Amino acid sequence: TAVPTTSPTTSVVPPPRPVDAAAVARTRELDSAHVFHSWSAQKLISPMVVTGAEGSWVYDAEGRPLLDFSSQLVFTNIGHGHPKVVAAIGEQAAKLATVAPQHAVDVRGEAARLITSHLPGSRLNKVFFTTGGAEANENAVRAARQHTGRRKVLARYRSYHGNTQTAIHLTGDPRRWANDSGAEGIVHFFGPYLYRSVFHSSTEAEECRRALEHLEQVITLEGPSTIAALVLESVPGTAGIMVPPPGYLAGVREITRRHGIVLILDEVMAGFGRTGTWFGYDVHGDGERIDPDIVTIAKGVNSGYVPLGGVVLSDEVAATFDERAFPGGLTYSGHPLACAASVATLRAMEDEGVVEHARHLGEDIIGPALRDIAARHAVVGEVRGTGVFWAVELVKSRETREPVVPAGATGAANAPMAAFTKACLSRGLLPFVNGNRTHVVPPCTVSDDEARWGLEQLDAALGEVF
Ligand code: PLP
Repeated sequence: TAVPTTSPTTSVVPPPRPVDAAAVARTRELDSAHVFHSWSAQKLISPMVVTGAEGSWVYDAEGRPLLDFSSQLVFTNIGHGHPKVVAAIGEQAAKLATVAPQHAVDVRGEAARLITSHLPGSRLNKVFFTTGGAEANENAVRAARQHTGRRKVLARYRSYHGNTQTAIHLTGDPRRWANDSGAEGIVHFFGPYLYRSVFHSSTEAEECRRALEHLEQVITLEGPSTIAALVLESVPGTAGIMVPPPGYLAGVREITRRHGIVLILDEVMAGFGRTGTWFGYDVHGDGERIDPDIVTIAKGVNSGYVPLGGVVLSDEVAATFDERAFPGGLTYSGHPLACAASVATLRAMEDEGVVEHARHLGEDIIGPALRDIAARHAVVGEVRGTGVFWAVELVKSRETREPVVPAGATGAANAPMAAFTKACLSRGLLPFVNGNRTHVVPPCTVSDDEARWGLEQLDAALGEVF
């Protein structure tokens, strides 16, 4: 087994790139004057200038390479600048740059075929394309409500489903609060999270059983005949990368099927190789049995080269709209440039064994290294994950499990995590930091040596700050 933290490997770091300092200054100026940023107090941020990217590296304002352990917002599954994807976008632009969703075009059909060919379960054969993940969840709920004639939707606390009207209500993290009208018929339940178990479980099997009993109770008390759908990230990502215990998703499937509730699995972040399997719901090898009714996708479907998302519908749900119009549509649904990028991405993933590589990274490099880091740093409360989808939870004390910073901390209260981010950046690592956690979520294509090098930097940054 590889233990990557012993000898520093510097040879993986590409040389810096020359930058035009005046152009960088202009970028800063224009950004500050005219770009309004997501989720931010505009005067309190200073966005990092990115001057280029290739593979698993992005280049900063000085042309310095940073190993991207965030995959941006966890979407560059095949890394930056994949030549086949870049070429496919260019070729499609020259051939047919845009066409409305009502027409039939070759790339759209081929993208849908490739996507459905990798989904475990034989009923998932139709894709309603969107331009991102939130819209996919929005339309998945719409389809489920039309299909069942019911209104309520169950969703998990500690989840993120996007930032449009229904999607933000589904979201079970505090980002919902500011947008919550409280009148959308959405009911939250607790999922399994052994490290901070609300069920006071001490084993995964106990947590699984109790979480399923809790779900059954919520459904009974809400009224099964009022519930259209249950929306669940197969592996909750943004909220902390909680791989479900074996049997949990199969249990949710059994319960939802028994009550006629549509099971919508959100694979926006977990899908397309990140978990070391094509889709997160197959992480324990029982995806065929779980056989969801709807799967929502985005991000890794084309590594974000052109915005694309989708709702994959089972034959039964799709048939609801055989004779009755589906009441939804978007001007840019299934944009040909995005579909061309998806076809090239998925073919490259097949040809290059990207999913197998992601699994190997998790099993042989990232998992062992993070466990080694956890053993040496008292600040690490837990490491957990699979493939290239890992969370490192930082705590003040292993006994109390109190997070190093409180949830939603900003300014001085967030100083330790800000210092950790800074320490990573100064070592050439672009980390993903959320609350008291750092997520290790590099592209699925990061090389073994790059991953080892990044983990060495993370190890050193933890030592420096905590
Ligand atoms: N669902 C999950 C699981 C996500 O992680 C995200 C975004 O991070 C979304 C939905 C929303 O996707 P988008 O930002 O493309 O709308």
